[in-house]
Amino acid sequence: MGSSGGRRAPYRRAGDGSRFPPFDKRHPPASPSPIRLSRPPALPTLSPVSEPAAKPVVLTCAQPTGRLHLGNYLGAVLNWGRMQDDHECYFGIVDQHAITVPTVPADLRANTYACLAQYMACGLDPARSRLFVQSHVTGHTELAWVLGCLCPLGQLERMTQFKDKAARQESVRAGLLTYPVLMAADILLYNAAKVPVGEDQKQHLELTRDLAQKFNHTYSDTFVIPEPYIAATGARVMSLQDPGAKMSKSDPNASATLFITDSADDIRRKVGSAVTDSGAEVRAAPDKPGVSNLLQILSACSGRPVAALEDDFRGKGYGDFKRAVTDAVEAVLAPVRSRFATFSADRAELDRVLKAGAEGAQRAAHRTLAKVHRKVGFVERPR
Ligand code: AMP
Repeated sequence: MGSSGGRRAPYRRAGDGSRFPPFDKRHPPASPSPIRLSRPPALPTLSPVSEPAAKPVVLTCAQPTGRLHLGNYLGAVLNWGRMQDDHECYFGIVDQHAITVPTVPADLRANTYACLAQYMACGLDPARSRLFVQSHVTGHTELAWVLGCLCPLGQLERMTQFKDKAARQESVRAGLLTYPVLMAADILLYNAAKVPVGEDQKQHLELTRDLAQKFNHTYSDTFVIPEPYIAATGARVMSLQDPGAKMSKSDPNASATLFITDSADDIRRKVGSAVTDSGAEVRAAPDKPGVSNLLQILSACSGRPVAALEDDFRGKGYGDFKRAVTDAVEAVLAPVRSRFATFSADRAELDRVLKAGAEGAQRAAHRTLAKVHRKVGFVERPR
């Protein structure tokens, strides 16, 4: 997530800078439940994850691209954490996808560890889920090759994202064209029944479904046909400096984005300089996008509905309001920040987490790969 070159995760992408949605007080978009991790993630215990589970398999992957921000946390990662009890979750850090565009090797490595430490700090728990790095699991690229041999070239060339990205580059790498096949392999390798996908990834999930059906039809029933997973809608967090645009890690204005590892001072300064609107009323309204965004953030962080917050601040000014937003954000992010510091300072522990995650993922991957190889007619690997 985060920074190498502002690239996006293959399955989850920020939107398109769309405008702040009309505010409807009867149906506030933010879940008004206070932020509570279902189990406080202390240092993970590495007891093996129980398997096989009867729970539905969910695969969530993201590229290791740097720092997570408050929008990622409230809008996505918090919900991923909540899925862990009733789903068999695989969280993949997809480094093989990351190299479809030029990458600095040292940054990729550092971002992979940073991504893992941030996920764990946000509540993804290696004792309940498999947190793994894609290149650690044999099977992703192998299955991608088999699926690529079934995939019509024209279908890849028609992918909107390929056309967009290729148009922006002088020399187009083959990996940019074929990465949807690798993404299909990521999903099918774990027989994921559900995949949380954003709007811009629906076409890729369609390709995955087509390839799974094509394989099942050509050989015999092998793959579960994955469905898009519509997670509970998290808060949509807008830029602090331009509340018409989504909060984004690649915003050039350093005050626009609250990162989950920001210090208490950073939070105070950024919330303090957040744009508000004319007038002094603390009220959510389409003509008050700045205040509406801060209300939304306060609601998501405090668990109080926006209407109740409006009552709280009736007759008070923006100063009091921003102090309350600062305190609420700090209360949510301080424990995340401190867990991140603990996790990222212990590289050996992160390596142990990745080892356990890779082992869990590898067991599932081997099962699928062995079946696929047998069905296509490969001679069984010598043991
Ligand atoms: P990205 O940062 O684009 O890789 O997005 C990772 C996940 O965070 C996706 O599920 C996005 O929908 C979610 N996300 C990104 N930005 C925001 C935002 N400003 N508000 C809420 N959710 C967001």
